[in-house]
Amino acid sequence: MKYDYLVVGAGLFGAAFAHEMKKKGKTCLVIDKRSHIGGNVYTEETEGIQVHKYGAHIFHTSNKEIWEYVNQFAKFNNYINSPVAFYKDELYNLPFNMNTFSKLWNIRTPEEARAKIAEQISELGITEPKNLEEQALSLVGRDVYEKLIKGYTEKQWGRDCKELPAFIIKRLPLRFTYDNNYFNDRYQGIPIGGYAKLVERMLQGIEVRLSTDFFQLKDVEYEKLVFTGQIDEYYRYQFGALQYRSVYFETEKYDCENLQGNAVINYTEREVPYTRIIEHKHFEFGTQPVTIISREYSMEWRPGVEPYYPVNNQENNALYEKYLELAEKEENVIFGGRLGQYKYYDMDKVLKAALEAAGRE
Ligand code: FAD
Ligand code: UDP
Repeated sequence: MKYDYLVVGAGLFGAAFAHEMKKKGKTCLVIDKRSHIGGNVYTEETEGIQVHKYGAHIFHTSNKEIWEYVNQFAKFNNYINSPVAFYKDELYNLPFNMNTFSKLWNIRTPEEARAKIAEQISELGITEPKNLEEQALSLVGRDVYEKLIKGYTEKQWGRDCKELPAFIIKRLPLRFTYDNNYFNDRYQGIPIGGYAKLVERMLQGIEVRLSTDFFQLKDVEYEKLVFTGQIDEYYRYQFGALQYRSVYFETEKYDCENLQGNAVINYTEREVPYTRIIEHKHFEFGTQPVTIISREYSMEWRPGVEPYYPVNNQENNALYEKYLELAEKEENVIFGGRLGQYKYYDMDKVLKAALEAAGRE
């Protein structure tokens, strides 16, 4: 049989694309080299707790259509992400808000906080921020940068803050209210029953082959290919390898009900080797007698480990452009998702891109 589409990757991009094409009467074969569907959003139930196997995933969006789209496949709970930062025995609320500023400077009003930040910014003389360090300093001043940003960012990206693009830090809200919601988006939550169930519903009625690597696939005929793996690998690294950050998760079970009191605690000092600890049950207000945590260690990607984050600095973006030029000449290959488009996409943006790609078909 000849499929209309071979979809490489059973993550959100691949699953949404296949779902849409099936609705249009097309045949799809979805493959993934991993032994499960879902890609990086995959969750696995252990001791009644949904464990986010590839890091904490909180769905958030301001796009009503995308929110309604995911809600077809799962009901979402009302979890609001409010991580806490731990720096040298002190706890600070995130994102940067009045709770953070009041703890840092023992102040109370937005006016005092603004004045403090303005004073620190004026000493720096940055007019147009050229990198993450300058961007962070010119937004929040030196104290927040040094305690809550510098160490965490350098661990997370393995690079000096001066060598990183400014947009990364703009992901985080900055506000002068006592509001610890990590996101500014209109809609937020975690799918009840886990992400694996959600993706399973997206892929209902679609043929899926797991533990199947595209580069070893034989005897499958198809009209078009949808590729959500690494674009540089697809082209056999012919212009050189793009850089990615990988993550190593150390997961442990504890015989207590509540270990850290929050779903996410960031460790913002350089000296602590991990970036954050996730206590999975808090994403779904779990009351099990045990708890499961994961420490997240960031490392540079190399063949053999999972790529997670594209490193979108100038060098890599220029290299990606070369691959993109090849991709744009392809008539029967669509590149999608975080790895296929080399973009620091959140889940809602990946879904939007997949729906657009399906729409173009
Ligand atoms: P993926 O999920 O990576 O899927 C690609 C799939 O392709 C993988 O399963 C892979 O095994 C498969 N594949 C690759 N190459 C091959 C091959 N050669 N053959 C067969 N299969 C192949 N987003 C949010 O909105 N909120 C969050 O809170 C959030 N937290 C995150 C935390 C972490 C630690 C990370 C890394 C990401 C987070 N994200 C979050 C982003 C989110 O994970 C992505 O937007 C989304 O999962 C990307 O989906 P995708 O389909 O593009 O890629
Ligand atoms: N960041 C930071 N301190 C924190 C949390 C985040 O400096 O306590 C910076 C860091 O550079 C990180 C970026 O903000 O890569 C984006 O954070 P986000 O939580 O969105 O990262 P993700 O969940 O995608 O890993």
